[in-house]
Amino acid sequence: MHLFLMKQTVTALMMEWHTKHNNRQMPWKGVKDPYKIWLSEVILQQTRVDQGMAYYERFVQNYPSVKDLAVAKDEAVFKLWEGLGYYNRCKNLLYTARFITDNYGGKFPAEYEEIVALKGVGPYTAAAIASFAFNKPFAVVDGNVFRVLSRLFVIDTPIDSTIGKQQFTALAQEVLDKENAGLFNQAIMDFGATVCKPVNPQCNTCHLQKVCIGYSKAIVNKLPVKEKVLLKKNRWFYYFILECKSKVLVEKRALKDIWENLYEFYLLESNEQLSWDELTVKEWLHQQLSIADATISVISRLQKQQLTHQLIKGQFIKITISSIPNNLKHHQWYPINELKDLAFPKFINQFLDENQV
Ligand code: SF4
Repeated sequence: MHLFLMKQTVTALMMEWHTKHNNRQMPWKGVKDPYKIWLSEVILQQTRVDQGMAYYERFVQNYPSVKDLAVAKDEAVFKLWEGLGYYNRCKNLLYTARFITDNYGGKFPAEYEEIVALKGVGPYTAAAIASFAFNKPFAVVDGNVFRVLSRLFVIDTPIDSTIGKQQFTALAQEVLDKENAGLFNQAIMDFGATVCKPVNPQCNTCHLQKVCIGYSKAIVNKLPVKEKVLLKKNRWFYYFILECKSKVLVEKRALKDIWENLYEFYLLESNEQLSWDELTVKEWLHQQLSIADATISVISRLQKQQLTHQLIKGQFIKITISSIPNNLKHHQWYPINELKDLAFPKFINQFLDENQV
């Protein structure tokens, strides 16, 4: 599909998904009051949603408007903030509430440039306030949006690089529904949080599957890319050894990471430990790789390897399939009895030796 057409289709399908399937509930959802949107965004900057909700409710109850917050005593506000940490956020909250009261008569500014100039408000929060409260055409670009766009359009520019941030922001702006900016921003963030999730995206039932290039190439597990991967201390590698007619799917490891140029099997890397049994493996195969006829012969115990700056932990899952699904056809399939000719990292070799694969 032509890129221009694809962007338009993504916009339309995302809005359609939002209208027909988005059930995510949040206390601030649909709120048009810029003060409350700002409050929720500041609270959520370094806090999980489930933890932040109670704080948001308490703040709104105690200080229903920006003017109420502006005249509050510092100690009372800090007390309410207790437990959230990163007290700078709270200080900025107070400073900005007083600034808005002094300079805008207590009325939240409506222009993006004015909003982004407020202390403690970055481009993301400014776009959220401008679009949710005033329906101004500014795309929000958070972790969910990075992930969704990198998978849909197969963009492997690191999301934590300057150029990556610029590229994703520009693309987010292009796919934004300019007439319904607030709704679209809500849609893509909710979609990332509930469908195109970091570890177990619901590809098989995804409303955007038919336009998703990452899915059609079976490389969702590799996206998005992060530059600072080498700084991680603990990494979990789950290797799916897929065998079909005595051939095994192998891949060469990408540059700029450990085990450069060595071979590996189909890898799912995670930031956290995952637990696998026959059912979860089958569900994962179905969702990610469109494999429905898997026979699982091995789910290995947890393996570990300490490298200089990181600890690798993981498991191997051996699967036999009767035919190669379309989205895995362009991957490399190598005769199983010739695997010994390929250079694998020690982590994999150990498993192969122990299991005589
Ligand atoms: Fe995300 Fe999968 Fe849907 Fe693609 S098909 S958008 S990777 S959930």
